[in-house]
Amino acid sequence: MSSSPPPAADPAVVASLRRQVCDLHQDLVRYQLVVWTAGNVSARVPGADLFVIKPSGVDYDRLTPGAMIVCDLDGTVVDGELSPSSDTAAHAYVYRHLPDVGGVVHTHSTYASAWAARGEPVPCVLTAMADEFGAEIPVGPFALIGDDSIGRGIVETLKGHRSPAVLMQSHGVFTIGGDARAAVKAAVMCEDVARTVHISRQLGEPLPIDRSAIDRLHDRYRHVYGQPGQSTPRGV
Ligand SMILES: [Zn+2]
Repeated sequence: MSSSPPPAADPAVVASLRRQVCDLHQDLVRYQLVVWTAGNVSARVPGADLFVIKPSGVDYDRLTPGAMIVCDLDGTVVDGELSPSSDTAAHAYVYRHLPDVGGVVHTHSTYASAWAARGEPVPCVLTAMADEFGAEIPVGPFALIGDDSIGRGIVETLKGHRSPAVLMQSHGVFTIGGDARAAVKAAVMCEDVARTVHISRQLGEPLPIDRSAIDRLHDRYRHVYGQPGQSTPRGV
């Protein structure tokens, strides 16, 4: 007996995600998280085993919704003219293993990557960090592109961790979210706190925040802060 195929994706939903993923790439530029063609955003197609991701090696100012690539959860292209991002396998691995994740972002943003280059987690020493990350921003293993090792490193580090961001050692940042916008927000916040904590380090040793205070801040931010219906950090 063969298993039934996954439900087909709604073309209107895919078209809307192509637009959204294209637009969110401009946020990576706006917040100065990327240079040249580095970095990528993807979004899961709800109800289908598919996701939308940026094509490989295309200038940010030439990205269009129609240039976005639709892949299955093995990272195989199912719709698109161009080759998908070289990080597609890592995004696919995350979607296969973390079913609540609806968006993934990757950048080599400067300050966060400087922590990654040292293999050092960003300690939770700011209330904004406790809000958004609920803990330190952890470091994932050194892994080379080309197989599942980057995806596996992301999932193994973030599974059971509050942080929606991981610093892959000697590489850069991967973030996850309930949707692609939440993952972009985590990438923006990750760079912001990596920068601030780095600057603080130049002047002395930042003061730790009690675990109980981190818990209270994180819980309040997830449940009370903002407007009803807004996505929370991991959005899940
Ligand atoms: Zn990279």
